[in-house]
Amino acid sequence: MELIASHQGRPSDDPIFGLNREATTRRQKGESIVNATIGVLLDDEGKLAIFPSAGRAVSEVSATEWATYAPIAGTAEFRKAVVDDLLGVAPDLRDAAVATATPGGSGALRLAITNYLEPGQAMLTTNWYWAPYHTLCDESDRKLDTFAMFTPSGGLDVPALDAAIGRTLAAQGRALVCINDPAHNPTGYSMTDDEWRAVAASIARHAARGPVTLLVDCAYLLYAGAGDPRAFIAHLRPLLGKAGLLFAWSASKSFTQYGLRVGALIACVADAKERAMVEAALSYSCRGTWSNCNRGGLVAVTRMLADPQVARACAAERDSLRRLLLARVDRFNTLARARGLKYPRYEGGFFVTVFTDHARAKAEAMRAQGVYVVPQERAGPAEAPGPKGALRVALCAVTEAEIPRLVDALAAP
Ligand code: PLP
Repeated sequence: MELIASHQGRPSDDPIFGLNREATTRRQKGESIVNATIGVLLDDEGKLAIFPSAGRAVSEVSATEWATYAPIAGTAEFRKAVVDDLLGVAPDLRDAAVATATPGGSGALRLAITNYLEPGQAMLTTNWYWAPYHTLCDESDRKLDTFAMFTPSGGLDVPALDAAIGRTLAAQGRALVCINDPAHNPTGYSMTDDEWRAVAASIARHAARGPVTLLVDCAYLLYAGAGDPRAFIAHLRPLLGKAGLLFAWSASKSFTQYGLRVGALIACVADAKERAMVEAALSYSCRGTWSNCNRGGLVAVTRMLADPQVARACAAERDSLRRLLLARVDRFNTLARARGLKYPRYEGGFFVTVFTDHARAKAEAMRAQGVYVVPQERAGPAEAPGPKGALRVALCAVTEAEIPRLVDALAAP
C-alpha cells in the first residue's frame, strides 16, 4: 500500500451526502420519502430554489472571463464588494479589512485554520458543530477542541467558552475560536446581543495575555430570523487591534449558488503593516492549495453584490425564499412544541436539531419509515451533563406539507 498510513481507512464520502443519495434513490423508485438531510434550500415543489437574478448574472459572464485566471487572492472588485457587503455597517472594521477569495466558505475556514494555528494545535468551537470543521482541521494537521454550547436554560454557555479559551491559551499559547452564527449549523441557534457582547469581552480579556482570534462563520447570515442580520458585528468593533477578527463569508446560501464555489476570508487588522503581512500569508496559502478561484464565479458574485439593480433583485428574491423558510420554521415550532420535542430556540435558518440520547437508533427507525434526518453525537466528554445526541433536521429541504409527518416521526417513542 503506497497510500500513507495516516490516510488509510479514511471515509470516502461525507455521511450526509450518503444519506441524501439513499433517500433520493428510494424516492426515485416511487417510495414516499421525507428527506431532511441536505443543506440546500428547496422550494415547496421539492426543486432547488435558485434566485433567477443570480442565475442570470452567472449566465451573462463572458466565455473569456470564465477562461481567464483570476488573481491569486481574487479580483480587486470582488474583494472590495465582499468587505462592503459584510462590514458596511461598521466603517472602522471595513477600513481595516482585507478579503481573500476562496472556494466557498469552506476555503475560508481552511485559510483561517492553517494561518492562525500551528500544525498540531487545536481550533476551538461549540460541542455541536458542522462535521466538516473536524475534517478541515484533520486534513491540515490541526485538531478540533470543543466547549459546551448551551447552558441548562438553553442560552450560549459563555463561561464554558471563557474557560476553554483560558485552557487553550495555557496549553498551546494561542487560540482560534470559531463561532458559526447566526442560524448555527446544526442546532439552528442564533446568539442574542448580550451573548455576542459577552463573547467579545471574553475574547478581548484573553487576548491581553496571548494571541486570540475570533473566526465568525457566517454562512447562513441572510437566513436568520427577524432583525438586521449584521447587527452582531457592532459588538465585535472593540476587538479591532486587540484580537484577531476573521469572517468566513460564503455566496453558497446567500445567493443560492452552492456549486459556484465562491467565498472569502475577511480579516480585520488595525495595523497597516500587519495587515499587509496577513494579506500576503493568505495569498501564499491560496497559491499553495487551490491556486486561485474561478474568475467567472467572482465576476458573477461581484455583480450580485455591487450592481445596484442585480443586488436589489437578488435581495427581493432572497426575501421571498426566506419567508418560505420562516413559514416552515413556524409550522415546525407549533407542531414540535405541542409534541414536547426538545430543541434549541429556533427562529430561522436551514437547520434545527432535536435532542435525544439515542440519535443513531432513532435516525435508523425513522429511516425505516422513509423519514431521513442526520444523527449527531455531541462532542466532548461523555459524562458531561445535557443531551448526548441529536437529530439534525434540514427544514430547508422539506416542504411545509411534509412537516407534520416529520414531526410525528421525531416524536414517536
Ligand atoms: N459553514 C457552515 C456551518 C456550513 O454549513 C457550510 C455549508 O454547508 C459552510 C460553512 C460553507 O459552505 P460553502 O463552502 O459551500 O460556502
